Amino acid sequence: FLRLIEPIRFLFGGVGRLAGGLVDFQQLLGLLSEPVELETGDPVLPGNGPLTLEFDRVAFAYPGRENVLDEISFKVPAGRAVALVGASGAGKSTIARLIFRLYSPDRGAIFVDGVAIDRFTPAAIRAAIAIVPQDTVLFHDSIAANIGFARPDASAAEIDEAVCLAGLAPLIERLPDGLETIVGERGLKLSGGEKQRVAIARAILKRPRLFVLDEATSALDSATERTILDNLARTTAGVTTIMIAHRLSAIRAANEILVIDHGRVVEQGNHAELLVRDGLYAHMWRAQTEHS
Ligand code: ATP
Repeated sequence: FLRLIEPIRFLFGGVGRLAGGLVDFQQLLGLLSEPVELETGDPVLPGNGPLTLEFDRVAFAYPGRENVLDEISFKVPAGRAVALVGASGAGKSTIARLIFRLYSPDRGAIFVDGVAIDRFTPAAIRAAIAIVPQDTVLFHDSIAANIGFARPDASAAEIDEAVCLAGLAPLIERLPDGLETIVGERGLKLSGGEKQRVAIARAILKRPRLFVLDEATSALDSATERTILDNLARTTAGVTTIMIAHRLSAIRAANEILVIDHGRVVEQGNHAELLVRDGLYAHMWRAQTEHS
């Protein structure tokens, strides 16, 4: 059931936090006593290169609520990096949840490599995608196990590399038990920024065909964020990437930036183009740079 850990975080994210983002296996088993979903569809995504992703007029409302996404259409070519920005509550994380098949669109469709994602099982989609969510769930086990669970076959050298790229090496060096340090409820409590870096290491190690980074570096100070974003840019080069961030400095290098407002894409372009356009993005950029 390990592949269900990230989905569970998503299901509870935004609704209530699970003990500050930390759960252990026992809690997870409790949470999983209900059947989570019925898996139907093709269990394997064809091919193995970076995925293309397309949203075609997707509308979505959480059960019993108003529409969060109204008519979202965009296309991310294989290997490109696209950023989603917009006010809090605009629907960015909801887009990430739909990609990960935690929910299905009410209208419209989502395609990977040109095929509607509901043709595949959620597990097939999740195996190909790595998500760094806003709140990372760590389970009560070693840091190595927390990083490695998506790739049980990963070598120690691969784990070390992911640790370095995610900027975790200084922390690991300080811990007497290093990577074997137990974290979680009854183990070492990691800070928000440390948990984010564990999640980044986990995503890097997974070698996905699509990265979804939802505020992946929001808890880090600017200097650490810069270093890790540079490492991530090298790691994700050539891999399709969706980045969500409030701090626009974190996403300005994206090939394309989509500005989401009230469930729609209201502006689209690269950083320079959007500044020239002098719309919502330019306004957000000015507001952030004036305050820094
Ligand atoms: P932020 O930048 O603050 O993370 P966001 O753009 O990612 O915001 P979403 O998390 O996608 O926004 O939320 C969009 C809207 O949907 C918000 O109004 C939020 O309250 C609502 N929402 C999110 N999750 C749920 C849920 N599980 N059930 C009901 N409503 C939800």
